[in-house]
Amino acid sequence: MHEKITNAPPHRYSHSRFDRGAPFRKDPQWLAAKRRDPRTRLLLTHDLKAIVRADAPTRLHLVELAHFAEAVPETAVLLGIENEVAIFALALETGHELTAHARDLREIGPTLEAGEAGLAAYARALFYWHQTHGFCSRCGSANHPADGGHARHCPACDHTTFPRTDPAVIILVSCGDHCLLGRSPRFPEGMYSTLAGFVEPGESLEDTIRREVFEEAGVEVVSMRYRSSQPWPFPASLMLGFHGTARSRALDIDKDELEDARWFHKSELLDPHRRPITLPRPDSIARYLIESWLYEG
Ligand SMILES: [Zn+2]
Repeated sequence: MHEKITNAPPHRYSHSRFDRGAPFRKDPQWLAAKRRDPRTRLLLTHDLKAIVRADAPTRLHLVELAHFAEAVPETAVLLGIENEVAIFALALETGHELTAHARDLREIGPTLEAGEAGLAAYARALFYWHQTHGFCSRCGSANHPADGGHARHCPACDHTTFPRTDPAVIILVSCGDHCLLGRSPRFPEGMYSTLAGFVEPGESLEDTIRREVFEEAGVEVVSMRYRSSQPWPFPASLMLGFHGTARSRALDIDKDELEDARWFHKSELLDPHRRPITLPRPDSIARYLIESWLYEG
């Protein structure tokens, strides 16, 4: 991998070697034992923010149960197992002294230790889902966490619902030695990025790519190649990254979607100190897609 490529796979916020302990989620005895095992660890959060160590702000405040409480509270969710020790995520109530160290993952994500960034993203996505799915989508009754926090069950109609992830495509489109980057009015000043969009019902990833790039920039994508994916828990996306090629460099920008879109020649972007624009965040797959095209072709 070229030294100038940021956020190479496995991308930040994925934690590919972590054992999620999925078979144990439906094992009440195992869960009950781990909820009382003093070696069990807790990842602490507050209002979807991660709690970091007061002495080391690039590390999560992962605490052993023995130093926190007698038992893991029922509202905690099982994240998984590391060296036979269970890890649960717990959302602290307002007023707990540790909430002073709660940090938004958007802010600290790029500098957190990589494995811990993956755990924090996982916990954030799960708690966001719990926060927004407190009622049964079938009958409207209040539902309750089940399966170690990986499902919600409705006692009124017996409906069980599972966490959702929204697939979104993100693509670096090139045409010869030029690549297409756009900017939304929401971006920091000077930043341009790859085009992206959510997959709609009834679409394949290829359909979404062709539709989004044509809608936003009037550009026809003629070929595409999947590169890699990244969990993006802001709040609940999975980014599916592609490189693609365009039929031509003609542009027809949708000003409701994009403030600007341009073709940049490779030579304009190669030198990080002489770029006319700023590239996306270092923890994003967009940054990887751009830099891997620049430095690897
Ligand atoms: Zn129901």
